[in-house]
Amino acid sequence: ATPTALMVGTGRSAKMGILIKNGEVLEMANKIKTVVFDKTGTLTEGHPQVTDVVGDRATVLQLAANLEVASEHPLAAAILDAAKAENLTPTAAADFQAIQGKGVQATVDGQRAFIGNAKLLEDYHLTDQDQQRMDRLQAEAKTVVIVGRDNHVIGLIAIQDAPKPSSAEAIAALKDRGLRTVMLTGDNQRVAQAIADQVGIDAVIADVLPADKAAAVKRLQADGPVAFAGDGINDAPALTTADVGIAMGSGTDIAIESGGIVLVKNDLLDVVRALELSQKTFNRIK
Ligand code: ADP
Ligand code: MG
Repeated sequence: ATPTALMVGTGRSAKMGILIKNGEVLEMANKIKTVVFDKTGTLTEGHPQVTDVVGDRATVLQLAANLEVASEHPLAAAILDAAKAENLTPTAAADFQAIQGKGVQATVDGQRAFIGNAKLLEDYHLTDQDQQRMDRLQAEAKTVVIVGRDNHVIGLIAIQDAPKPSSAEAIAALKDRGLRTVMLTGDNQRVAQAIADQVGIDAVIADVLPADKAAAVKRLQADGPVAFAGDGINDAPALTTADVGIAMGSGTDIAIESGGIVLVKNDLLDVVRALELSQKTFNRIK
């Protein structure tokens, strides 16, 4: 494409809230074979809400809130909201330790306490009944975190984050264009698959630790150029590894800096519009 065509293309898209860093990004967008999506905040709204508490509600939420008050994870916000709704006031725990992709550990009332997923649980035991409850909640597309202290589990908290209204339509449009769609998430396989079914995504790569997201993108590049859409700090390496990194405008600064395309409106239909624009720009000028 001529420089003028590129300026026209990227100028028009900027007015629609699709910021494209340069002509190379726009050109590469036309070659993409696979589009990979982060789950939370990308396919979903990113405003998770507590839906179920297993165990004594006040006790479980109080301990959970004490653990999460120092956390920046979206799940922490959901838990703090639920605690507030019960008029519980969190008190910050000592020795706070966030473990990426797993959860939080800290000292509460002199006891070691934790909240997080099963990866954090190597030393703890989940009863068969709790395991079944967890499976059921996860099949409902809810993320389940385990809350415990002093070497035993005291409860489970289920948290739901709805897909964005346009996610399913965007996935369908990408599939119509012959692209493969993949979800890449640190969340559990069962939850990830339930959300994937709701939005119609082709494949799911779940239980991925933040440090492994970029390697997963690299593996997918064996089948051709890959676009990765994400919003989190964790997504930055995948955004730069992908042939086209697409950051949500609502995302963290580091995600936005790492993206070649920024979607100001956080609307995944704008992924489709960006690809259409690329096709128009690079098919028109030969
Ligand atoms: P995602 O890929 O969905 O952004 P993350 O890698 O941030 O997910 O987290 C993956 C999983 O780790 C969460 O689904 C949750 O089970 C657990 N986890 C991470 N941080 C926390 C936290 N602060 N509190 C509870 N659980 C957490
Ligand atoms: Mg995210």
